[in-house]
Amino acid sequence: MTDFEGLRAVVTGGASGIGRATAELLAARGAQVTVLDLAPDTVAKPLLARRADVTDDTSVRTALAAAAGEMGGLDILVNNAGIGAQGTVEDNDDAEWHRVLDVNVLGMVRTARAALPHLRASRHAAIVNTCSIAATAGLPGRALYSATKGAVLSLTLAMAADHVGEGIRVNCVNPGTVDTPWIGRLLDAADDPAAERAALVARQPTGRLVRADEVAAAIAYLASPAAGATTGTALAVDGGMQGLLLRPV
Ligand code: NAD
Repeated sequence: MTDFEGLRAVVTGGASGIGRATAELLAARGAQVTVLDLAPDTVAKPLLARRADVTDDTSVRTALAAAAGEMGGLDILVNNAGIGAQGTVEDNDDAEWHRVLDVNVLGMVRTARAALPHLRASRHAAIVNTCSIAATAGLPGRALYSATKGAVLSLTLAMAADHVGEGIRVNCVNPGTVDTPWIGRLLDAADDPAAERAALVARQPTGRLVRADEVAAAIAYLASPAAGATTGTALAVDGGMQGLLLRPV
């Protein structure tokens, strides 16, 4: 497929997991893609890569401007960089709340702020934010993480309203449990990683974890000209976790 021919994309957090799968898919479908990440050295051609820390406004602005300059403009921003956090409201102090909000929420704000002037010059401008089912379902032991993703959902809707008149679409994906290095790290930290993985799989209506390429396909759809009438939406890619009530109450 070459439906992204001539389009230029930036993917934050594109060195791993969902971001990497998205960057590779957009490139395979004809886009020029620059990954902005803390670890750009792990990114291979044809992807371009620049170091950027989404918690640092100067770093984001510098890397975004350089990426748009190198690609000759910007049409698509995939705001994907994010980190996890465990615990109830009693488990994390203010410093931890600020640290995670800084990456997961302000990180997307900074990148969008840097990207918008470039997106205004595009005829197919789209932003896709990586949100989570944590934004719309109560996950136990994930108060801080869920609050950051709730903010990403609200931000997506507000930005969609603010920029629809400028021809810039803004949507998000809500992944469920995706088999990425992130989940690998969580499982490795468990007492019995194999048992923990089996428990995770048992909670999936589809009987398996979501694959990163499946989230990438949803992001690519929302970013593509084919989704030209879609803005202000959240697309669940969660193996049915949120929509299906498999055990009758
Ligand atoms: P991952 O850990 O595999 O990849 C995250 C990437 O973000 C890494 O390359 C990392 O270097 C980069 N990153 C982290 N902090 C950064 C910073 N300050 N500046 C720039 N880059 C930074 O994770 P993943 O599972 O692919 O998750 C990607 C996104 O998907 C996150 O926003 C996450 O909240 C969301 N998500 C993941 C899952 C899941 O089950 N894996 C579920 C729902 C939502």
